[in-house]
Amino acid sequence: MPSETPERQPLIACVGHCAIDHVFQIDHFPDRATKTPAHRYESVGGGMAANAALACARLGARVRFVGAVGPDDAGRMVRGQLTAEGIDLTHLQVVPHTHTSASAIIVDRQGERHIFNHRGNALAHAQLPDDSVFDGCDAVLVDPRWPAGARAALLWARAHGRLSVFDADVAPQQDLEALVPLARWVVFSEPGLAVWSGPVAQEAALLRAIYLGASCAAVTLGAQGMMLVSDGRLHRVPAFPVQAIDTTGAGDVFHGALTLALARGMQPGDACTYASAAAALKCTQADGIRGAPTREALDAFLLRPRPGRNRGDE
Ligand code: ADP
Repeated sequence: MPSETPERQPLIACVGHCAIDHVFQIDHFPDRATKTPAHRYESVGGGMAANAALACARLGARVRFVGAVGPDDAGRMVRGQLTAEGIDLTHLQVVPHTHTSASAIIVDRQGERHIFNHRGNALAHAQLPDDSVFDGCDAVLVDPRWPAGARAALLWARAHGRLSVFDADVAPQQDLEALVPLARWVVFSEPGLAVWSGPVAQEAALLRAIYLGASCAAVTLGAQGMMLVSDGRLHRVPAFPVQAIDTTGAGDVFHGALTLALARGMQPGDACTYASAAAALKCTQADGIRGAPTREALDAFLLRPRPGRNRGDE
């Protein structure tokens, strides 16, 4: 009996930050400094690129994580979680005499969160990835937490004609300045765009990213969805209406799903819709990034009828 050729899944290198997140769920934020009981607690691996790696892997990609941890409990926990998700950690460095980043993430019943972060120093002492680290990759996804590593990945992608996506979150201005012109896709968070562009309209800032060399530039806007400039046009993709209970990692899931969708050959607008659905579905689940959807869950979600669907171009 003829058997179908299995779909070849893209290989995506996710380059940048990993951390341990201590996630506390509370009813609501106090209006003064006090002790507040949490009704739920989990410690989970986190960090922008590591979260995106997990999201890609859940959605079916082959994933290589490129980053660094310290030789500590947090680093072991991060490695354990990423390994359990089937992510290739050959290029995750364990840097002697450094420590892994850690965050306390406090989430209320509405899904809003406060993050308190201690940045580890493993990435600052990590060795730069050489070209062999990216051998065979279809795409690279980088965050701004390891600018030298991100630069190496973006230059490799450019030299080899591969897709590159830069998750341009808040970072020192000079790092954003250096990395934005190197990426094919630049996807800002709203605060990241404000840091990079200063007080100019978001549309104008996205056009500037295109002028500097990006093929597509976008900004994610939380429950307001996202805005994209592609093919010289501005598009808005509304968020999927969901009952959000934990928005932690929504942006990372968005970036991971977007990179995978583009690597699978989707057009920009469709890829953004796919990524928005993945991020919305994550928002309906607790436990930070552990709530990232599987491919099956996302496919089922996308098949559901959507009342009042009004995706449109401007
Ligand atoms: P970050 O987590 O980096 O701050 P955003 O908050 O902008 O990123 O969220 C990224 C994407 O996740 C949004 O563009 C949207 O598609 C989706 N998203 C975020 N919050 C919600 C929400 N409350 N409901 C539905 N989708 C959401």
